Amino acid sequence: MKTISKLKKELDKWFSLYIRLRKATDTGLAQCYTCGKVDHYKKLQCGHFQSRKFLPTRFNEQNCQVQCAKCNIFSQGEQWLFGIKLNKEYGLGTAQDLEFLSKSTVKITRVEYKENITYYKTLVKNLKKEKGLD
Ligand SMILES: [Zn+2]
Repeated sequence: MKTISKLKKELDKWFSLYIRLRKATDTGLAQCYTCGKVDHYKKLQCGHFQSRKFLPTRFNEQNCQVQCAKCNIFSQGEQWLFGIKLNKEYGLGTAQDLEFLSKSTVKITRVEYKENITYYKTLVKNLKKEKGLD
């Protein structure tokens, strides 16, 4: 039986691939959410607006966006700019809502992890097929 921490890691992997692929072109290029740098989706990262240490927003499709390593790691996620972009894309107040949500309490069960893994695995598979990527 897989431990919760193993399931979490597996979900991280598929969720990250989904985030990087959803806006990628059919040549595999995607754009960093905060600085605009274009690169291959495999070289980009899944950046979290509210840190991934907060479980309620760790797998949130608004909280997570494509980022380059420079923004994600070396500039602490460019959080201020990240928030501005989120409000522009999803509506004013989104950044604040996500911040609030991130501090709430949530428990993800083993079954839920498994369901989410299957869900994102399928999305990734379909996106790759649709765009002709590997
Ligand atoms: Zn960047």
